[in-house]
Amino acid sequence: MTDYKKNSKNFALSRREALKIGGISAAIPAAIGAVAWSSTQADAQTGDPVDLSRVKYYQFMLGSFEVTALLDGTTITDGPHPIFGQDQDPETVAALMRENFLPADKAQFYFQPMLVNTGTKLILFDAGNGDTRPGTGLLTDAIEAAGYSAGDITDVVITHMHPDHINGLMIGGEVTFPNANYITGRAEFDFWTADERMSGGTEGVASIVTEKVKPLAERFTFLEPGQDADGGVTAVDAFGHTPGHMAYMLENGGKQLLLMADTTNHYVASLQKPEWHVRFDMDKEKAGQTRKRILDMAATDRIPIMGYHMPFPGIGYIETKDSGFRWVPVSYQLDL
Ligand SMILES: [Zn+2]
Repeated sequence: MTDYKKNSKNFALSRREALKIGGISAAIPAAIGAVAWSSTQADAQTGDPVDLSRVKYYQFMLGSFEVTALLDGTTITDGPHPIFGQDQDPETVAALMRENFLPADKAQFYFQPMLVNTGTKLILFDAGNGDTRPGTGLLTDAIEAAGYSAGDITDVVITHMHPDHINGLMIGGEVTFPNANYITGRAEFDFWTADERMSGGTEGVASIVTEKVKPLAERFTFLEPGQDADGGVTAVDAFGHTPGHMAYMLENGGKQLLLMADTTNHYVASLQKPEWHVRFDMDKEKAGQTRKRILDMAATDRIPIMGYHMPFPGIGYIETKDSGFRWVPVSYQLDL
């Protein structure tokens, strides 16, 4: 296994490079990267050249952990209603969007895996869309822009097995992260790999699990809530979005970051109206309760959180507002 402490010189170089590209003073320890290079890589769906100016990452230190949010891409859809507020009338959802300076008929969603260099391990949380969704598939480019390669990843943690989190595990039949061990929740793996999921409403996702996860099954280890994926990386029960969906608490040097995955999927609707039903939540009531519990913890402890689908870089704080919460995007707190 590679000792990432030994590689800190390379990593420092890549960071300086990123800082230079970002035009930010090298005295600032965090980096935002938007990197262009001479690659002529093609879009997997269209064959068009990839617009590498869309490759983005956001990097900061959490104690001695280096944390990098990686943008796999974005997509624009109709909505948020009825994806969000499925149990509400359209005008109620539209009014909330207008109040928050957002359109009511279009919504943008982000896909953001996260990389954590603990000093001994390079842990990737979720694997992105691979070659399955237009506007995405930039994960491995973002990993390289941040100074690593897919082969450097030692551990891949899957928060849950929805397609936008697992499709990037295998691309064109090839394993994307060939040297990695894989970690996920026991409940999540058992649910999606059971034979009975291959019919009815779960068939679509289960067939993707069969294609992308099952070939790696022997390399998986399984966690229960409260167990550590590594020192300072602890699984948190966030069941509801899927039966075994888990968040992860990162702790190092007296600092914390809660990676909450898909506990919230829209930065206004999910936070201000956490009880509203969301189409993607498999258990609507439980997901709502989990959302309130996790957001309440983040607001009470005033810790930064990372949300997979929050606007880039997906990192912010939570404050209480009326009967719900409000998203406070990160500014320079993590750079100091
Ligand atoms: Zn998702």
